[in-house]
Amino acid sequence: MNHDESRALYDRALAVSPGGVNSSVRATQPYPFFIERGDGAAVIDADGNRYIDYVMGYGPLLFGHDQPERVRAAIQSQAADGPMYGAPTRIEVEHAEFVARHVPSVEMTRFVNSGTEATVSAVRLARGYTDRDKIVVMKGGYHGAQESTLVEGTLQDTEPSTPGIPDVFAEYTIPVPFNDFETIETVFEDYGEDIAAILTEPILANNGIVLPVDGYLEHLRELTANHGALLIFDEVITGFRVGGLQCAQGKFGVTPDITTFGKIIGGGFPVGAIGGDADIIEHFTPSGEVFQSGTFSGHPVTMAAGHASLQYAAENDVYDHVNQLGERLREGITDILADQAPNYLVVGTDSMFKTIFTKRRASSQEADVCQRGCQQRESCARYTECPKTGSDVGQAETERWERIFWQEMKDRGIFLTANQFESQFVSYSHTEEDIEKTLEVYKETI
Ligand code: PMP
Repeated sequence: MNHDESRALYDRALAVSPGGVNSSVRATQPYPFFIERGDGAAVIDADGNRYIDYVMGYGPLLFGHDQPERVRAAIQSQAADGPMYGAPTRIEVEHAEFVARHVPSVEMTRFVNSGTEATVSAVRLARGYTDRDKIVVMKGGYHGAQESTLVEGTLQDTEPSTPGIPDVFAEYTIPVPFNDFETIETVFEDYGEDIAAILTEPILANNGIVLPVDGYLEHLRELTANHGALLIFDEVITGFRVGGLQCAQGKFGVTPDITTFGKIIGGGFPVGAIGGDADIIEHFTPSGEVFQSGTFSGHPVTMAAGHASLQYAAENDVYDHVNQLGERLREGITDILADQAPNYLVVGTDSMFKTIFTKRRASSQEADVCQRGCQQRESCARYTECPKTGSDVGQAETERWERIFWQEMKDRGIFLTANQFESQFVSYSHTEEDIEKTLEVYKETI
């Protein structure tokens, strides 16, 4: 594969952008391939190389790179009427009505422009609503580039995870391990009266894909309710992907107080949203006192793209298609691993998938294991050793993923997320042939 053009573009980019990119995760080794265009489930780079794409923009592209005609028409027609106005439009009302109809916890929505903006606003809302300052987050969870959640450490000893954040922010954030019942109970015993909210992804999707163990989300729901704190589900990735239109909260049957959205809800355009009961969401200005505002919020082109996309998904077999192919892929990779790398593990659900290069030793007695990706099933032979927390995933062969496996898959025409941690996605444009071809390449590469 020739990458001369991408190499030359990266050389130029290094002079004008920090690290040559506009989002850190894109700076793949030794240099990224620059994308010229998308085509169905594939992307074509600046040198004309074609890759089957499972990055899918890191989640927003439910349809892949070819939108259904109706969705494309809605976007083009809205853009042709002038990009935005600074005054309300019909389409943002219709989109908010759609979300309220389908997502169990949502009556009202405030639209913003990114997942980060959504979680920043949700944290401020929770603090304003409860008049408390502390928030609890999961170690290895990700909520965007924001001060309150870029915090790491243990209960008594937290610190910002990046320079540029004053230490004082870390005093108000308590990171706990995902799926750990005891630690969260201790945290609420010690700080219950000061905790505004637990902010968690229902599935850790930025960290190898870790599903909740049985009863964990219910436990969070109960603890927060008993202590007058709010439960915030960050469904930026899982929203309108896991569980279809009801989102992960519908699939797991646990209703949070606040939900943050991003990615799919904007149909591929920059978006975020904060949804919940009217009683809570109305605390945002101007109906309430928690300040929230944005020039581009509820952008008409984004709203048109998001609304047309979700309506199309409601009326067609979109979720059946992506989930079936996701299942086939997870099943196929599970079979390949059984033969070639029994210590590795397939994770994921619905249209999300990943392989974790776990270092654990496989036993020969593993007949009863999850065949379509780890589901945290207690009767599974691997239950006690499959990753339950973010740090479990961090102990995998992360360098091998990044420096060898990812590179070799890419050279064979398969575009995966470049690190061990982030999820991969199947889109409506993927076909059975794409999946079978991908499995062939896994077989050659693993
Ligand atoms: N929350 C979650 C769960 C995410 O995965 C992300 C980004 N991948 C964000 C928030 C931040 O979203 P954005 O990159 O749109 O700011």
